[in-house]
Amino acid sequence: MKYTHHNAELGIADVGKTVILKGFVSKKRDLGNLVFIDLRDTEGITQLAFYQDNDIRSITTGIKNEFVLEVEGVVTERSSKNPNMPTGDIEVDVKRILVLNHAKQPPLLIQDDTDALEETRLKYRYLDLRRPVLQQMMKTRHQITQCVRNFLNEAQFIEFETPLLTKSTPEGARDYVVPSRIHPGSFYALPQSPQIFKQLLMISGFERYYQIAKCFRDEDLRSDRQPEFTQIDIEMSFNTQEDVLELSEQMIKAVMKTVKGLVIEEPFKRLTYEDAMCTYGSDKPDTRFDMHLNDVSAVFEKTSFKVFADVLSSGGFIQTITVKEGASRYSRKDLDKLTESIKVFGAKGLSFVKVNTPSTGSIVKVLSENELSQLIARSNAEIGDLILCVASDINTVRSSLGYLRKHIAQLEQLIDPNVYDFTWVVDWPMFEYDQEEKRYYALHHPFTRPKDSHKSRLIDAPEQSIAYAYDLVVQGQELGGGSMRIHESTMQKNVFDILSLSEKEQADKFGFLLEALSYGTPPHGGIAFGLDRLVMVIAQTTNIRDVIAFPKTSSAQCLLTQAPSTIANSQLTELGIKKA
Ligand code: ASP
Repeated sequence: MKYTHHNAELGIADVGKTVILKGFVSKKRDLGNLVFIDLRDTEGITQLAFYQDNDIRSITTGIKNEFVLEVEGVVTERSSKNPNMPTGDIEVDVKRILVLNHAKQPPLLIQDDTDALEETRLKYRYLDLRRPVLQQMMKTRHQITQCVRNFLNEAQFIEFETPLLTKSTPEGARDYVVPSRIHPGSFYALPQSPQIFKQLLMISGFERYYQIAKCFRDEDLRSDRQPEFTQIDIEMSFNTQEDVLELSEQMIKAVMKTVKGLVIEEPFKRLTYEDAMCTYGSDKPDTRFDMHLNDVSAVFEKTSFKVFADVLSSGGFIQTITVKEGASRYSRKDLDKLTESIKVFGAKGLSFVKVNTPSTGSIVKVLSENELSQLIARSNAEIGDLILCVASDINTVRSSLGYLRKHIAQLEQLIDPNVYDFTWVVDWPMFEYDQEEKRYYALHHPFTRPKDSHKSRLIDAPEQSIAYAYDLVVQGQELGGGSMRIHESTMQKNVFDILSLSEKEQADKFGFLLEALSYGTPPHGGIAFGLDRLVMVIAQTTNIRDVIAFPKTSSAQCLLTQAPSTIANSQLTELGIKKA
């Protein structure tokens, strides 16, 4: 029989009604003459009651957690109500029960605060997903996806699907490859993004494209990365950078309003890449708190303190952050820990000053009075504050202090998790120069367009050319990124040349694109948002596995299906592959 209600629906107004409910047994309490069963479905829980005079009470004896039931009964008011449960005012006095299926004892507690190890949860993911918290995550993801689709459909975008079996795409990570049986020795690559295809669709004359696209990147994993993830991928033609930013703001606003009930102010804040790096030490600045980086290099131009003098003479910088009222709160041990934590960024040390009368700290004795007072002034520090100082090459200084400001803000609880500081980081450089390899790399990807006023720099000073490239950042995380694209074959070739791609590589990897660009390509550009990230930000979780139905572990395994796994020798032979 069909159920009449879901398990979160019934309340005091339904008392007296006869209802049919279905679901899983979440909990059974057998009080001897009285048995309670909590029945759970995707919407919630209803308490079933089997009283002493109920003939069918004996049937409950064999019922265990996760059995699947259908029951029919009468809604009654509870004598002791549970205000923490939406259905806590009522229970159902059961008159008919049908056990639809039995269940083995589950290997994990199916409730929000389960004590199961993540390994067990991933192995039995189908049970883990029964937990209300994950049911809610999946619904949030669905709501976001639908909201994005509705928004883009209304804005006249067309949803496309592009191939998964394709050629290597240029997002800079390692490819997942698939061997071809029909062409032994040849491989497809799974797309790192649909980048080239969406550009080709613009060349085909479709003006507005979108795709909820699976992307595959074989990189070292972190808590916010998975080998396969989903992008909201967007491309437009005959547009400008401003059109992409405005559309994106409207879309994010619609999602935040529909899914979270929050009104987000627009336009979003904007920072140039240079400002973000100078002020926050990061291209993904968390702007929910200040603690800016201060450049104090000029104070030490003539210093006799050798460590600082050496750093400056080798082209390095000296910068600080100030922890307000931190002087008395950080012990030597705490400071040692902070020093240790920035070694991964290449920092050799962390100097500090506890501002006071007189000030104390690791560098106080070696600085002149004037240097000390200027250091304090330029760090915007006052009595009672703690100044942390890193002297090194610019990348080390920024990454160390950028890390410390976030870490300390967390320790000091300066961050309000309910603030959504959507910020555009614009004006990215086209390239970064790798000193060791003596070559340029594209900071976004090689199809990114230089600003009109920077085109000529492609020839004389590539490292100074700024791109029409932008990232949307929120709460210190990159939510999306995109660019205007090169739409001329010659400029595209120039950029490939700067990136040291030989003629042969250009022809092999991107020959089809260079050719396509020469058949009348409209100006175009777009953006891609990380759907998983967006769900994480809205659902306020830091674990990407919480927002993906069947995620992989941090070593890229699926514990449920045991992928990746070996394949039969016959399959290898068919593919023309020999084991190493
Ligand atoms: N394909 C780019 C990426 O995945 C996004 C874009 O440029 O639209 O980062």
